[in-house]
Amino acid sequence: MKRVIAGGFAHESNTFTPSMTGWDDFIMHTEGELGEWIKSDPDSELYGVFATLDELGYHVIPGVAAKGSVGGVVERGVFDVYVKRLQQYLDQVTDDVDGVLWVLHGSATVQEESDAQRAIVQILRNRFPNLPLVVTLDLHASVSDELLALIDGVAAYHTAPHRDVFSTGVRGARMLDHFIRTGKTGRLVSVRIPMLLPGEFGQTDHAPMSAFMRQAERIAAESNALEVCILQGYPWADNANGTVSVLGCWDAGDVSGQAHRLLELAEDIWRSRADFFASIPVMPVAAAIREVERRPAEELLVLCDAGDNPTAGGTEDRVDVLRAAVDCGACGLVFFSVFDEAFALACQGRVGEEVKAPLGFSLDHGGSPLMLAAHVLNAGIDEESGPYAYVESSGNRVFVCGRRMAVRSPRTLARAGIDPADRKQVLVVKSGYLFPEWQDFLTEQTPARDVLLGTPGATSLDLTTFRYNSLLSPVYPLTELHNPQAAVFLCGRDMETRRWSTELK
Ligand SMILES: [Zn+2]
Repeated sequence: MKRVIAGGFAHESNTFTPSMTGWDDFIMHTEGELGEWIKSDPDSELYGVFATLDELGYHVIPGVAAKGSVGGVVERGVFDVYVKRLQQYLDQVTDDVDGVLWVLHGSATVQEESDAQRAIVQILRNRFPNLPLVVTLDLHASVSDELLALIDGVAAYHTAPHRDVFSTGVRGARMLDHFIRTGKTGRLVSVRIPMLLPGEFGQTDHAPMSAFMRQAERIAAESNALEVCILQGYPWADNANGTVSVLGCWDAGDVSGQAHRLLELAEDIWRSRADFFASIPVMPVAAAIREVERRPAEELLVLCDAGDNPTAGGTEDRVDVLRAAVDCGACGLVFFSVFDEAFALACQGRVGEEVKAPLGFSLDHGGSPLMLAAHVLNAGIDEESGPYAYVESSGNRVFVCGRRMAVRSPRTLARAGIDPADRKQVLVVKSGYLFPEWQDFLTEQTPARDVLLGTPGATSLDLTTFRYNSLLSPVYPLTELHNPQAAVFLCGRDMETRRWSTELK
């Protein structure tokens, strides 16, 4: 029976958010306990990897896997423990291993280590210099050429919002099996485009990205590729590799023709750069408040506070929209949620009473708290939100959580006693684009619509509000480029790497 090792390290690190990501935000499992953890989430990439390798007849030796909730830069201590456990694990693994598969998000930044994924893969490659090594990536990965030079293959998500997490694990496992069975090595071609793209504008079922995803599929089918993907990068990090790129993977051989086709796709994407940013309307907050008053009574309206989106690393403690509603005298809005542990604690044991306390801006220093006099409708403590409170003030309701939490599904609101389908209210959620469960829910709730708000914060859609120091060259939309260059990188385990740049027309 052939033996493979598998593990992972997944984090999306926002370098503009003021707090760090520490142990409280991380789950890390090794060997035996890893198997149990994987079984607890059958939709995960790791489950796809382990189940498929098992089906293909491999003995999988579970390695070390860690996953953190999206947030600030990862504390060095967390990463050091991960690396130590990984090295201990690799010391124990015997040499009769046939392949390596590692599940990475691809946009992790660690204190004093800007390319954490490369550092991890370098450790794996040092231990097994001659084995097929495949990684899986999020479509919002910020991947360096140095990482690509260490691997044979990559499988990345093809959808945003992500609906193909499990199947990406399956594809990664099949790709590793391909390399093991054929004894071939991989060739990777990356074409980097000087462009930052907020994920909201790169949704794969929206134009223009939908057409480019189909173009990538055609290239893959016609060139017999193991993978062709568009990595959108991650703009809310000051990271040299956070730009958009087109990435392809083939078997060993001459791939210069394939490189040319990827370059054509990159040029098409570049020419549509302004279309991405115009693809989804972004509404100013004041206009959204007017929209609340004008909307048809039967319509379900969801406003997305995109600038303070915890699922992309926002602090979730900004109260810009609530403040605007209070200032305009708007009512009927339900805010889900505002992170403020002190406020949530102040409401404990006071259901039915009035509470007056400052709300918001406990992490973000870009504004001042809102003094809120509120009636406590509900309060308590649960695993997801920590101490929480649901309060009403001037006809608006606010769910306050003591722990940052994602609003991935309408079920999250239902658990808090809010009916997400109630037309008497307008939902204001801390989110960028809505996740698949939300989208499915809104499809069932016709008429319903979601609107992106142009709010400030660590995940603002206006990238000119951030200070980037690590970008290697000027990028769109921060600068309009006069002589835009695509950086082409071609590598494989048994060849000299090649790198050149070419003007984007
Ligand atoms: Zn993503």
